[in-house]
Amino acid sequence: MAGRGRRAPRTAAPKPEGSTRMCIGCRGLFPRESLIRIVRGPAGEIGVDRYLRAPGRGAHLCYSRSCIEAAIKRKAVGRAFPGVSGGTQVPDADSLIADVVTAIDARLTDALALGRMRRETAAGADALEAAWSAGTLRFLIMATDVAENTDHRWMSRAHAVSLPTVHFGTAEELGRTHGAEARVAVGIINEGLAERVRIEFERRGRVLVAA
Ligand SMILES: [Zn+2]
Repeated sequence: MAGRGRRAPRTAAPKPEGSTRMCIGCRGLFPRESLIRIVRGPAGEIGVDRYLRAPGRGAHLCYSRSCIEAAIKRKAVGRAFPGVSGGTQVPDADSLIADVVTAIDARLTDALALGRMRRETAAGADALEAAWSAGTLRFLIMATDVAENTDHRWMSRAHAVSLPTVHFGTAEELGRTHGAEARVAVGIINEGLAERVRIEFERRGRVLVAA
């Protein structure tokens, strides 16, 4: 309900005050949560603020290879941290991109581990088959080193029902998110988690796209 003297919002899109930031690559304004945040560490190194929680001054960038490259080329990263430029070690575009991907992968790994605790995932042959039969799979992550026949079976199933899939991590790495030695596939059965994971993979793709 709009209060007295307050203008009713013209659009339905929620836009809390102060939530937008400028990308130092393309200079566009975007919601803070949709951008990479970089910060300067104690030793002067520039790094990615993985969970947008690090204190102090930060600079923002789109999840986009071209924005990262433009920011480095324009020397906008060093300028974003004035007064400390002498000790600031500005990375090149490739190492900043690698740092961004590391941050995305860490968030994905955390999200999967949390999803397992909340029973929002299905991993292991029996659980996956059960979720498939029940039609509850919302997203499917296959290990990069999964056996070809297993990969083929799940990929054709997924394709048939337009279930989004990605290959991410080794079976050992996927297993670690689920307290197991190895998991060749992790299915997501929760809509919210599937959406968060989908966004992270989309970001990964935009940052890693060929120059
Ligand atoms: Zn940008």
